[in-house]
Amino acid sequence: MERFRAYQVVEEDGNATGRMTEVGLDDLNPGDVTLRVTHSSINYKDALAATGKGRIMRRFPLVAGIDVAGEVLESSDARFDAGDQVFATGYGLGEEFDGGFCERARVSADWLVPLPAGLTLHDAMAIGTAGFTAALAVQRMEDNGLRPGNGPVAVSGASGGLGSIAVDILAGLGYEVTGITGKTSAHDFLRDLGATTILDRTTLDMGKRPLERSQWAGAVDPVGGDMLPWLTRSANRHASIASCGLAGGHEFSLTVMPFILRGVNILGVDSVAWPMNKRRALWARLTSDMRPRQLSQITRTIPFADLPTAFDAFMDGTVTGRTVVQIAESP
Ligand code: NDP
Repeated sequence: MERFRAYQVVEEDGNATGRMTEVGLDDLNPGDVTLRVTHSSINYKDALAATGKGRIMRRFPLVAGIDVAGEVLESSDARFDAGDQVFATGYGLGEEFDGGFCERARVSADWLVPLPAGLTLHDAMAIGTAGFTAALAVQRMEDNGLRPGNGPVAVSGASGGLGSIAVDILAGLGYEVTGITGKTSAHDFLRDLGATTILDRTTLDMGKRPLERSQWAGAVDPVGGDMLPWLTRSANRHASIASCGLAGGHEFSLTVMPFILRGVNILGVDSVAWPMNKRRALWARLTSDMRPRQLSQITRTIPFADLPTAFDAFMDGTVTGRTVVQIAESP
């Protein structure tokens, strides 16, 4: 039987650990569509899974990779035909189901997005879960009244995957963007993406009061920890804060004051299970008004063979932008 390169997470002595291996098609979970995978990407969650620093995998062994893109080889679902270019993000890929770090994937047709006109498979994975989540955060804030004239919008973890795409999208939509980053080396990068103000996370005075000086009409927060409470305590009246991640911690401590005295909204952002009809509509925006303008500057591409050595930098918080994994040649 034909064998395919895969990056699998196994459990050894109670610890999850990743390794390059080979699998046959029947080693992968069943699915009504079989893909020849050309690209995947690295998200923070993949690094948690691969290094065993987060309990991400629901079973072992499992192919990691929460994003997958490629062409259809075989489909028993009438919506897809051999040769179609498609991708999927979330839906439990690389958590519950074998994911994108493999030369083949078997997936449910219900998870697949046909490649929108104007995007390549590489572009789709350069955006990937992190970029899609950035777009979802912006849309959630807009749905709650955010408009470019309302005031500055903060983006924390701004040099990371989610953060850098959020800066790019917001600036492209005409927002005044403040990037908050721990990397001095990323200031020029963030200005190039359209941030007009940069704050250094390591020297921020967050204060301790239930309400601090109001300064944000909105915020995209992939960091959590102390960042989310501070952004909320320093938000303007009726501002929206999109809570997207936990790179700086998952606990959350706050008084009710921002909610009852300033009417601040904290919006949850869950990209994994976002419904397909809304998902496709948001991908359409990612090819039009929300299209990241600096995607090639944000993205680096690594060969599949380099994947095992790429995860530690995500855990250290030293990665800038997005990382696409080239699994095979594009069609
Ligand atoms: P990246 O690793 O690309 O970026 C994370 C960034 O956060 C870092 O580059 C750094 O940016 C900052 N950071 C890292 N460590 C710390 C720390 N200890 N304290 C404060 N800031 C830190 O990750 P992604 O962009 O892929 O994901 C970011 C977060 O969003 C993760 O928690 C991820 O799980 C979550 N996420 C959630 C999704 C959802 O559906 N809700 C979907 C996708 C991601 P800088 O140096 O600029 O401060």
